[in-house]
Amino acid sequence: MPPHPETWLRVTPEGLHCLPGGFTVDPVRPVERAVVTHGHSDHARPGHGAVLATAETLAIMRARMGEGRAGAVQEPLAPGEAVVRNGVRISLAPAGHVLGSAQVCLEWQGSRVVVSGDYKRARDPTCAPFEPVPCDVFVTEATFGLPVFRHPPAAGEVAKLLASVELFPERTHVVGCYALGKCQRVVALLREAGWDRPVHLHGALMGLCRLYEELGVPLGDLRPATVADKAALRGAIVLAPPLAVADRWARRLAEPVVAVASGWMRVRQRARLRGVELPLVISDHADWAELNRTVDEVGAPEVWVTHGRDDALIHAMAQRGIRGRALHLIGLGDDEEEDAAPDPALAAEGAGA
Ligand SMILES: [Zn+2]
Ligand SMILES: [Zn+2]
Repeated sequence: MPPHPETWLRVTPEGLHCLPGGFTVDPVRPVERAVVTHGHSDHARPGHGAVLATAETLAIMRARMGEGRAGAVQEPLAPGEAVVRNGVRISLAPAGHVLGSAQVCLEWQGSRVVVSGDYKRARDPTCAPFEPVPCDVFVTEATFGLPVFRHPPAAGEVAKLLASVELFPERTHVVGCYALGKCQRVVALLREAGWDRPVHLHGALMGLCRLYEELGVPLGDLRPATVADKAALRGAIVLAPPLAVADRWARRLAEPVVAVASGWMRVRQRARLRGVELPLVISDHADWAELNRTVDEVGAPEVWVTHGRDDALIHAMAQRGIRGRALHLIGLGDDEEEDAAPDPALAAEGAGA
């Protein structure tokens, strides 16, 4: 009988550690051997010895951390290919989260675990779609693991933005979005919706957009948003990091319409508190329905939940005969990325809505 995954995959202070393979998936502290699912800073940390990841994730890590800190040895692995480490077979499958994002599929002595990292099932023109891989244990996030979280089609949210631009042609629309993934997805969705004018970017967003383009994701005419030239930005769409949108930077634009693209915009109170006039529910994480559908599609009898609202998901899975286990991994979702947990009061509103 194949060994139960609990016997060879352990939660350590560094993260999810594969004992026979001698590596850790998405380690939160420097380790000798890391396997990294994607480039968000809660998953991809600096200072590891060897890093195995997709070529895109490795490029993103170099761009964000600098050549020297993104792993002393970088080991690119293409989705669909495999390597064997001390008898453990490692392969990667697309996670549909951001460019380069991958699920880590591990097989040891006939036992298979899939560590999905962060993922979504909605279409994203900037990255390969999630592929369900059958397994014995599926390791999932639960950032939006409450029934209240339903992400509407992103195209409809972008249509709201364009309708507002049409309605207020004198104002500057500034959209808060995270630098890795969300920003490029919003640009690509604007292009699909027919917006062929320039998209203006806060300086903090330009680098990763250029990298996406180098890696084969066309984004069209991108220009730096120079706040000094306020008049030129009338009627323009400006993308900026959420923090810049919240502070004085955005207020220097011409009568700004403040928008934020995030799954958390589903929680109305959160949008209100942040002074967001135009909340856009665009998320790079699975919503409640996607989480449950994915768990059913991979057919695992057991599911481990890394972070997020594990209680509701585990309860829902139990009703379908799936054994759930909360891993409470430390360090995921606690930084600037979208899976940062909202304030307890707002989570409570989400729970009650
Ligand atoms: Zn992520
Ligand atoms: Zn994350």
